[in-house]
Amino acid sequence: MKTRSHCSRCDEKTIYYREYSGEGFCGKHFTKNIEKKVYKEIKKYIHNDMKVGVGVSGGKDSLVLSHILKKIITKYHGTEMMAIIVNEGIENYRNDGVDIAKKTLEKIGINYSVTNFQDTFQVTTDNWVIDANSSNTACTFCGVLRRRALELEVKKHNLDILLTGHNADDLAQTILMNVILGNHKSLLSLHKLPGMVQREKPLKNILEREIILYAYLNDIDYHSQPCPNTVNTLRNDVRNFLALTERKRAGIIYSIMSMGEKLREINSDIKSVVNICEKCGYPSSNKICRSCSLINSLINQ
Ligand code: SF4
Repeated sequence: MKTRSHCSRCDEKTIYYREYSGEGFCGKHFTKNIEKKVYKEIKKYIHNDMKVGVGVSGGKDSLVLSHILKKIITKYHGTEMMAIIVNEGIENYRNDGVDIAKKTLEKIGINYSVTNFQDTFQVTTDNWVIDANSSNTACTFCGVLRRRALELEVKKHNLDILLTGHNADDLAQTILMNVILGNHKSLLSLHKLPGMVQREKPLKNILEREIILYAYLNDIDYHSQPCPNTVNTLRNDVRNFLALTERKRAGIIYSIMSMGEKLREINSDIKSVVNICEKCGYPSSNKICRSCSLINSLINQ
């Protein structure tokens, strides 16, 4: 019988013990296990002859995802991938992330395009931090516009699908934040509208700490500096709370994700109202989409 000190799959010593499942891993089997998890997930939506886009920030998640996809994509005949890097315009932060993203993608051998908020929207996240007179946070502005910038690149390059590096911790944090803020529509995913680009999250079942370990074991360089706009955010508080609670009660992150999934299933019959944004022509549940309304609130104040 195996003990905690030895890999559950071979006789090597354990370098990582997965509390919630009781499995020990040596480095080789840990890497294999993470790649298997990603393959199991992408099999649901990646097929032969597809053009796959990956949103890359320069952080660990998107570069680990790119690294794994580059290995797995060869299983699909005629399927190609490219990365999309978005520069949101955050001084003393984002340019470094973009440089690291480019270097790591070149090392892995993945083509990329770079887009930025200034050229696409004529405003940046720094403009929002300095000028916005709004209850919305910099992350709300930045996140909504980043999604739109990625979608525009997907359309420009005729890609079939957009993959992002959100991990299990990210998704559990978002669900818990929606509960805390009483955002029932976001919790029930009513904002997913027909006509939008298909977006998927292949790392959604992998814990953040396992992604950090995968990056370390596989020598993946990434931008580890935190964004200056995360200080004092609700997400930061929720991240710290969840990380602490997961350490004491392993599996809590998956319990929260499973609850979010069940709520969306219960709600799957409810159809969203689909409008076309009067300003940009994108699908929206309102007359003006969220991206345009945030940009307007910045420009017209
Ligand atoms: Fe943008 Fe917030 Fe992420 Fe910083 S932390 S890059 S402001 S979404």
